[in-house]
Parts: sequence; C-alpha cells; structure tokens
Amino acid sequence: MKVVENIIKENIFTKERIIDLLKADTEQSKYIFEEAARIKSIYIGNKVHLRGLIELTNKCSKNCFYCGIAVSNHNVNRYCVSLGEVEKAIKFIDRNNYGSIVIQSGELQSEEFISYIEKILHKIVELSWGRLGVTLSCGEQSEETYQRWKEAGAHRYLLRIETSNEKHYYKLHPKNAKHNFHKRLKSLEYLKKCGYQTGTGVMIASPFQTIENLAEDLLFMKHIDIDMCGMGPYIEHEDSPLFNSKESFYNTTEKIQLSLKMIALLRIIMKDINIAATTAMQTLATGGREMALKAGANILMPNVTPGKYREQYELYKNKPGLDEEAEDSKISMEKIISKANSIPAYGEKGNSNHFKNRMKSSYIY
Ligand code: SAH
Repeated sequence: MKVVENIIKENIFTKERIIDLLKADTEQSKYIFEEAARIKSIYIGNKVHLRGLIELTNKCSKNCFYCGIAVSNHNVNRYCVSLGEVEKAIKFIDRNNYGSIVIQSGELQSEEFISYIEKILHKIVELSWGRLGVTLSCGEQSEETYQRWKEAGAHRYLLRIETSNEKHYYKLHPKNAKHNFHKRLKSLEYLKKCGYQTGTGVMIASPFQTIENLAEDLLFMKHIDIDMCGMGPYIEHEDSPLFNSKESFYNTTEKIQLSLKMIALLRIIMKDINIAATTAMQTLATGGREMALKAGANILMPNVTPGKYREQYELYKNKPGLDEEAEDSKISMEKIISKANSIPAYGEKGNSNHFKNRMKSSYIY
C-alpha cells in the first residue's frame, strides 16, 4: 500500500512511477480508485453527462488489424443511416434532454461523405436550435475538412491514437499510406488548431502492448493536453487478423482491472478532462460502465442508432445493446448512473472543464 500511496501523494507522475501504479495489485488498486473518485468529486462532481451516439455508417476505407468493420471483412453488410433516420435520432436526443450528440463512423474521405456529415451538422443545429453539444468521431481528415465541419456546427472531436508507441502502432495496423502513425498525430494537431475540444484514447490490453506502452499512453495524453478521452479494453473479433493472437497477454478480469486503473490514473493525472465510460467496458463485465464511472469516468454515450443497424456496427464481438432501441438504451443508462451513485446531467452540454480552463488561460496572454 505504502508505495502506491506515496507516489500518489507526491503527485509526480514519471513513466516509472506510472508503471508501478499500473502494476498495483487488487488491494493497492483500491487506493488508486479512491483517489480518482476524490479528484473527480472536486473537479467534476457527481453528474454524468450524456451523449446520444449515432453509429452513422460501418463503411470504412481502413484495414485495422483488430477491427470488425475493416474494409477487407466481407462478412459485414455495409449500411449508412439515412438523413431521415438521423433526424429522428436528433429529435429523440433533444426531446430526452441528453444535451449532446456524437456521430461516429468508419473512416471515409470522399466528398460525398464529407458533405453528408456537413448536412447532418446543419440539421443538428437547426432541429435543436443549437441546444446540443456536437462531437464527431469520423477518423482522420484533412485540416480543411475539420474546418468545414467546425463551421457547420461540430465543436468536439474524438480521434483515438490507439497506441502512442509508433512500433506498436504498426503491429495493430498495416504500414502504408492509409495507415500512418504520423498522419494520425498530425490529425490531432489539426483538430486542436481548428479549436475543437479534442479527445483521444487507446485500446487497453491490445496484442503486443506492454505496461510500459500504457504508461507512455497516459503521458502522451498529458503531453498533448487533451480535453476528453475515450478508452476501453481491446476485445477480439473473429474476422480480424489479430483474432487469437498469441501476443494477447491478458484474461478478461485482468483487462477490466487494467482498464479501470488506466481511467483512474488519467483522472488523477489530468483532473478536469471528460472521460467516457465506454461500451467495451460493459462488454467484458456486467456493470463495466458503472465501475468505470466509479473509477473516474464522467461521460456515458447511450446508443440511439436505429436498432436494425446495430448488429452491423460490430467493431468487436458481444457488443451489448444490439437488440435495443433508443428508449431501451436510455433505461439501461439510467440504471448504470444510479448504481454509480451519480445523477444524469439532463439538458446540459457538458463541455470539457479542461477545455474551458484552457480557453480562460489563453485569454490572459
Ligand atoms: N473510424 C473512427 C472511429 C470509429 S471506431 C476513427 O478512426 O476514429 C471507434 C473505436 O473503436 C476505435 O478508435 C477503436 O479504438 C475501437 N475499436 C475498434 N475495434 C476494437 C476492438 N476489437 N476492441 C476494442 N475496441 C475497438
């Protein structure tokens, strides 16, 4: 206990110290979770902010080795939610006072896709009278595209780096023009430059990943000064090249523990950022998302994708909520929040406090 307690009290987080914390056993980890909960109550409070999630399309031009919707997986029926269906989802989110919307998709760069997103953004602003916070998670794009989408009404963007270690990146992705670590880094830079609340994240316990990598990931997020984070455990997909990889080192319980520790340590290190309790947490453990909320997360993303498409957006196996519609997802979400002794922040956008503080300090200079 002493080692963990001392490191946290000293509040200096070097790579070596983070590695020690990530290696903490169950007993020692309790102290990490308690500290994360304490910091969360000071910097965030007990509110959980909501983002209605539309999984817009599973069409994707990439071939990530872990992902179920990679372009080379021919066992997937490709879909795109129509504008009429998106409108219904926007109205549901607004009527139910979720406060924010997230549009997530595979990675496409065609003009057709770019202008479809633009049209959706205009619709969100029009239908909700600007009441909704708007997050995009549509992969790497040019600076111009990010700018266009910003002007059309998006103001937050989540682009996971997946791993901040370049060598590890190429074990999870093919090495070619479509999959380039530096391009992904550059995209994060563009997002910040365009003025988005910028989020990133990694997959936890992915093949070939070491504890050292995870410590580097936390320091990377601190270094690029993110406003939001979405990270969750890696889950195998049988149609992906990494299925049954011999380089996967963790069992389910270890994956959950490690994910919770990553969330808690990020809360301790970055204090006022938004951290999502991701669906992947729920996939590995019943109650996974409420555990994440207790360990320092403060965002939930209830799914509002029309039920008929959900099975097709299968990034990994056993994704929960596949048989649900938006109403059911709302009920599940309220249960999770109350079990985590928190309250849903209906009607609030829930912008990142870190972003607000960043903006305040940049006005001073
Ligand atoms: N294409 C977009 C986002 C869509 S996928 C982008 O590149 O930003 C959203 C996230 O799902 C990915 O960033 C990845 O971290 C996660 N994901 C994909 N396959 C996964 C798997 N097998 N296990 C866990 N998470 C996975």
